[in-house]
Amino acid sequence: MLILSSPSGAGKTTLTRMLLQSKALDLTLSISVTTRARRSSEVEGIHYHFISRKQFESLRDTDALLEWAEVHGNFYGTPSEPLEAILGQGRDVLFDIDYQGARQVKQKAGTDVVSIFILPPTMRELRARLERRAEDPPEIIAKRLENARTEISHWAQYDYVLINDDLQRTFEDLLAIVTTERLRTPRLKEGLGAFVEGLLNEPGE
Ligand code: 5GP
Repeated sequence: MLILSSPSGAGKTTLTRMLLQSKALDLTLSISVTTRARRSSEVEGIHYHFISRKQFESLRDTDALLEWAEVHGNFYGTPSEPLEAILGQGRDVLFDIDYQGARQVKQKAGTDVVSIFILPPTMRELRARLERRAEDPPEIIAKRLENARTEISHWAQYDYVLINDDLQRTFEDLLAIVTTERLRTPRLKEGLGAFVEGLLNEPGE
């Protein structure tokens, strides 16, 4: 489970798209449920499942969410069932969730989780990116900037922290993290046992 968090506007959405487009990585996105209104660029079932507050409360209260949080006045959560199905196929899952969700997933899934925080190079750049995106009204942008400071203050809970001052370089750092994490012994143990056994049984001549 690979968690990517950052304040809005730090480039996380673009980096998520780049990661998902990489055939070599073969990552599957965990699609969250949210009570936030759908933006015009978003598609139901691809970016989020857009649900009512009542539906959200019902999922939350029946333990159908692995984690959930209130962000910018809306509720967001990760449905457990589709996640279990993807993990059950042996696939790696990418989460675009906030620090509150990252903490809950880390608590529940421990060593199977790798978390990465993306920082903007400056607050000025963060504001510029939010304004350029022009998808949200000014009062929402102001709220997101305020929340960015809270989000950023949690950087130290993450396994890795990247400063996104160059998109391509940050993407390459992400690739390096995924490659390295996949090579860690505990993750390889199951698959490698038989290989090593065969290796040791070879005469070596
Ligand atoms: P946005 O409204 O811009 O799509 O997302 C706002 C914030 O909510 C982002 O920081 C995003 O990572 C976070 N978020 C999206 N889905 C989830 C989720 O399922 N759980 C949690 N905890 N945060 C989420």
